[in-house]
Amino acid sequence: MLSTNSIPGRISQNHIVALIFCVGRGSDFRCTMLSRCPECPVQDPETKDDLRPATQDCHMIAPVIAIAASIAAGVGLLILRTHHRRVRRRQLMAQGLPAEHVAVIERNVPLYRRLPEPLKAQLHGLVNVFLDEKQFEGCGGLEITDGVRLTIAAQACILLVNRPADLFPGLSTILVYPQAYMARETTFDGVVETEVRDSRLGESWERGPVVLAWDSVVGGSRNEGDGLNVVLHEFAHQLDQQDSASDGAPILGSPDDYPRWAEVFTAEYEALRKARRFRRRSVLDKYGATDPAEFFAVATETFFEKPRQLLKNHPDLYGVLKDYYKLDPAQWSG
Ligand SMILES: [Zn+2]
Repeated sequence: MLSTNSIPGRISQNHIVALIFCVGRGSDFRCTMLSRCPECPVQDPETKDDLRPATQDCHMIAPVIAIAASIAAGVGLLILRTHHRRVRRRQLMAQGLPAEHVAVIERNVPLYRRLPEPLKAQLHGLVNVFLDEKQFEGCGGLEITDGVRLTIAAQACILLVNRPADLFPGLSTILVYPQAYMARETTFDGVVETEVRDSRLGESWERGPVVLAWDSVVGGSRNEGDGLNVVLHEFAHQLDQQDSASDGAPILGSPDDYPRWAEVFTAEYEALRKARRFRRRSVLDKYGATDPAEFFAVATETFFEKPRQLLKNHPDLYGVLKDYYKLDPAQWSG
């Protein structure tokens, strides 16, 4: 007999607690369920009515077991997947790149040629993992070739070498257009909704794709001294977006690093805004004065493409970027 507030088929928190209690103790599941489940028939100590045998089953045992089994299976699957991915990544990191792939990167990414040799070996492993885990999709008729994949992957992964960093975990797909593409953007001014279309060279979505214009990828990469590189720019946004806030502050190595980062970036960002307002020259592209997120992306481009100029004119900014990326491109050859 079931008590009046017991509804067959419904699993209460008490059942789950009882199950955890039982499993935790390693005791007899059925007995524990009977003694702790308030929604199952109970023995009345006064009237002795509704006595049940000690071996009577709790009415919710089967569904609770089913749920526990599916949770355990889900957790087990997740652990297996994580382990499998870790092993696969380790194998791919240890592999070199075929000579023809290295030749493509050397040809299309002059920044790669300046990397110290030990960092090149790390980069090869990261490129292997990147190509294994990320999908490329050609848009507007662009064909995705090894050249497209390697040129983008090599530049994106330069942001990850020499430091423990996950491989852009929120990103699964890179969309590549042949050239600048039109994007729709909806803006609100009070209650007025306006849809605008503008031409873009690239964009990065939090937990979404990175979109790139291929001619800008090649142009930005081959002209390594202009401080403009759309791949470094958009993948810096990916780093910034990993903490779900596109605010110019990526996840730093230690909580102690944030005050220094905030101090330097705030001062440098305000200086660039002032330089733009008064039309003064700056080693940083003025687009970085748009907002703090764009400032971090532009500062990253400048750090890798004009490191010596950045070090000379903005030593504090160079210093925090050097600490973050664990790289010192001003010392690289070339
Ligand atoms: Zn941007």
